[in-house]
Amino acid sequence: SVRVRFAPSPTGFVHIGSLRTALYNYLFAKKMGGKYILRVEDTDQSRFVEGAIEGMLKAMEWAGVKHDEGVMLNENDEIIQVGECGPYIQSQRLDIYKKYIKELLDKGHAYYCFCSKERLDKVREIQKSEGKVPKYDGLCRGLSKEEVEAKIAAGESYVIRLKLPANKEIKFNDIVRGPVSINTDDLDDQVLMKSDGFPTYHFAVVVDDHLMGITHVIRGEEWLPSTPKHVYLYEAFGWDAPTFVHLPNILNSQRKKLSKRHGDVAVEDFRKKGYLPEGLVNYVALVGWSPEDNRELFTLKELEEAFSLERVSKSGGVFDTDKLNWVNAHYIKEADNSILADLAIPFLIEEGFITKEEAVEKYEWIKSMVGAVKEGLSYVKEITSKVNIFFKDTVELENEECRDFLNLEHIPTLINALEEKITSVDEITADFVKAMFKEIQKEFGIKGKNLFMGTRIILTGQMHGPEIPLVLSVLGKEKVLNRIKYVKE
Ligand code: GLU
Repeated sequence: SVRVRFAPSPTGFVHIGSLRTALYNYLFAKKMGGKYILRVEDTDQSRFVEGAIEGMLKAMEWAGVKHDEGVMLNENDEIIQVGECGPYIQSQRLDIYKKYIKELLDKGHAYYCFCSKERLDKVREIQKSEGKVPKYDGLCRGLSKEEVEAKIAAGESYVIRLKLPANKEIKFNDIVRGPVSINTDDLDDQVLMKSDGFPTYHFAVVVDDHLMGITHVIRGEEWLPSTPKHVYLYEAFGWDAPTFVHLPNILNSQRKKLSKRHGDVAVEDFRKKGYLPEGLVNYVALVGWSPEDNRELFTLKELEEAFSLERVSKSGGVFDTDKLNWVNAHYIKEADNSILADLAIPFLIEEGFITKEEAVEKYEWIKSMVGAVKEGLSYVKEITSKVNIFFKDTVELENEECRDFLNLEHIPTLINALEEKITSVDEITADFVKAMFKEIQKEFGIKGKNLFMGTRIILTGQMHGPEIPLVLSVLGKEKVLNRIKYVKE
């Protein structure tokens, strides 16, 4: 049965492309009734970042992309490992890699290399100056067993390299890319074990994918050039290679690879702005994959049904923030007001609209305010630019047009009518407002734009905003009457 894995290196933040890789692995596993595993690839000790594993797991948990097996957090946010194929953290598997590198050495598919960095640099420089693609020149390939033993005994530092045969076609079929074929003459004798005793990514990934029973390797296309080496390693071990699926890059609007230098790329960046996980996951699913119809809105459950690797596109998917915002706005509109209020409160406090205490005392009111403005919000942080109409005790007219509108002949009558009707009621509800508008229409003949736009400008100073009955009910009787008085003067 299908087993797939997401294998992040804990380097500090989760790129939106990693979220998509994780998501596609998850969706494929779900669709196939298989298992989705999370393995931590931390063999590059120089890149290790404290807390990165926890942060990454939190981001996945937030997104709702849950794995069945591997590295997880318990309820105290401590790292645990779940499953039969552990450890799932590569730095804890060093003995395993030692055992398998020995097997490769014994079979003659790998060799010790004692070349210094200086020598390798020099070789590379010469090759470059000759217009060749730099690669290891194979000096240590010819060392005898005795020479190797003597050097090791003398304490010389070494790496272990893959011994690629000359002029051999390595072929595999990629689900997205189709058939791929490369000649070993165009490949380097890849380092498999580093001088610090850690495996390289290339070696560890093959050993682990094999031992963990991975059937499909779904990963970013930056790994496509490495795959022939992996395929050769499977062959050298006598193992069946998994099926490979290389996902197209995510591009920015200039069709360049989406990178940290150009704004938001980390899952955390989006979370912090108040994007909903449902919105981000829905949108990210569509960057590089499309359903058979042109449908765009999918819950995670619906994606599990609809997803297929066959419909992953070959060309890069453009990350379109406008589209993301449109998708996210849909989920905000659908979301529970209390969820939105909880997300909005830190922003409202930060912008000085409310205090921490008010966030507790006026929670119900905040909920109804958030409910009034949620339509049209792309992400929750934007709320701070929409709620000022609920806080001021005065009314500031946003432009000349508003001023002109308030000079219209019917406005004094409207102001008096509003004041009278609102004074007579205990609490403003949306239903009351609707009934009130009907009465004003009947009694004073004020209707349409004159009535609705007039009321909006009188109470908010703006020409656009949430539905007027909502605005009035959220403002409440006291504030509404204060504003009417203010406008009268
Ligand atoms: N550790 C690699 C990464 O950080 C995983 C590549 C793979 O999936 O093979 O992207």
